[in-house]
Amino acid sequence: MKKHHAEKIALALVFIFKCLLPVLPAVVGLLFWKKQYLLNYRRTSDKMTIHLNAISQGPIQHYFQDILRFNTEVCEPVQGHCSQCGNCCLNRQCVFLEQSSADTFICGIYSSPLRRFSNCGSFPINGHDIERYQCPTYRVVSPYPVMHLQQI
Ligand code: SF4
Repeated sequence: MKKHHAEKIALALVFIFKCLLPVLPAVVGLLFWKKQYLLNYRRTSDKMTIHLNAISQGPIQHYFQDILRFNTEVCEPVQGHCSQCGNCCLNRQCVFLEQSSADTFICGIYSSPLRRFSNCGSFPINGHDIERYQCPTYRVVSPYPVMHLQQI
């Protein structure tokens, strides 16, 4: 998908979601079978607004441009682990993010099969992803084995 097409689809989708905002707490409550999204309607709605604004700043375009079409050209070899800082969760603005300790976070819909259709499972695919969210524990590695001087 071309870049400008991805951007148009992404922005149209965000617009549709914003129009549906009054019913979104009920929709996500049903989809993820979590009644607190509906019971805390005002909170969910406010967080959803923040979430939609955050995804329109690049992540949703990235999804349509790279993730959905399995764009391997933008991928780099990465290594590391997740320390649950919550940075890549839209800089902790994701509506589904839950605080698990003073400085760690967990995904509130992690076990949902629907999550696999999101951006989240693919992070990080390259150095740009890592830098964008200042991920402290993943890094890009060289695709070539390191040769020591004695081996040359
Ligand atoms: S930015 Fe890195 S360490 Fe932080 S939650 Fe995302 S993957 Fe985990």
